[in-house]
Amino acid sequence: MGKDKKWDGYTSWSYLEADVDYHDYRLEKQVDRVPKYDFGLTKDQEDRVEEIIKKNIIINLHEHLDVFPAEPLPRGAKTRTFTGYEGIAASGCDVIFDNCVCSTMDRVIQFLGMRQCDFDHQGFVVTARTVDDITRAFKEGKVAIVNTLEQASAIDRDVDNVDLLYGLGARSMGIVYSESNTLGSGLSELGDGGLTDLGYDAVKRMNKTGVIIDVSHAGDKTAMDVIEASEKPLIISHVGSRTLTNNARMLPDEVLQACAERDGVVGVEVAGFAPRTAKNPDASIECLLEHLEYLIDVIGVDHVGAGPDTLWGDHQGLYRQGPLGTVNYPKGSGHYPRDRPAEMPEIFDAGEMVRDLEYVKGLESPTDFPNIARGLVRDGYSDAEIAKVMGGNALRVIKACWPR
Ligand SMILES: [Zn+2]
Repeated sequence: MGKDKKWDGYTSWSYLEADVDYHDYRLEKQVDRVPKYDFGLTKDQEDRVEEIIKKNIIINLHEHLDVFPAEPLPRGAKTRTFTGYEGIAASGCDVIFDNCVCSTMDRVIQFLGMRQCDFDHQGFVVTARTVDDITRAFKEGKVAIVNTLEQASAIDRDVDNVDLLYGLGARSMGIVYSESNTLGSGLSELGDGGLTDLGYDAVKRMNKTGVIIDVSHAGDKTAMDVIEASEKPLIISHVGSRTLTNNARMLPDEVLQACAERDGVVGVEVAGFAPRTAKNPDASIECLLEHLEYLIDVIGVDHVGAGPDTLWGDHQGLYRQGPLGTVNYPKGSGHYPRDRPAEMPEIFDAGEMVRDLEYVKGLESPTDFPNIARGLVRDGYSDAEIAKVMGGNALRVIKACWPR
């Protein structure tokens, strides 16, 4: 149904007065901001892509649905977060996991509340609270947004906060971001202590409440512990294989395999330092396709999906400005560098990761999601296989985790 989305033209906060209620500024384009990527498909192949997108529930496992400013803002400007409705409508997606990276409860509540307020002033995007919301959105030409917390740090020491956040609309949570929290160790830590007792309780509570668990930014041991502790299938929403790209943002194949054995789904990412490979050393959709196709061979076509992790605007600039927590691995994630242990593998080179990061060719924003289907058609996959990767597998996990 992706092609017939009925965006009603609403733009974020248009019920307010620009330059009265908030500082007005130009936003980045949501469609055609960068040159189109040519897959060299024939007319028949393009028709196949269109059919696949139209017939199936298309699910994007990881994005940030924000539009960046297209101009520098004056100091102290009262800004707001703008949702990319136009881009969402053009993305071919029926369901998008929209991510909040905040670590504290007040910031998470701010994110969920402001997004919901904006959503409630229009009728095209709906919040996905139940599986029914998804199937209805598919039939009615709407898009269902899954409120996702990239880390569950906000629950702090009280697992009842899982229920509180579920009540506020969160339907998927990462256990930990790159820095450790009360639940487990993140990938930027020099040591990975695995899932804590509290983390174990949180996994159990997320299973019972109906939250989809994600271990994308966890350390290797923590990720494996979570997968073993979970009684429900889970997702690794935005990741890749360390066999192809040797850095800490990727996970070892044993962890990805374990996720598949729990009937989970591994979503391949492309943003930031990108899962560059020896074969595809530039930041482009080809990196994602190479990882995807490798994982189809290793863990099976029933266990892969895509979570590009982009937004509208120069998200690569976030990484060019210098190391984020996630690319600071060799020195730990704090402000004060410390020597890493001698036995630690040399798997992360922050300088190499941010080299030539202009934009991700072929998959620069959530609008480009159908290009994944184009790549898979070009590379010889069947319609049924592509439908699984583009959403069928993710829908299976959603149905297995949510109570209704
Ligand atoms: Zn992330």
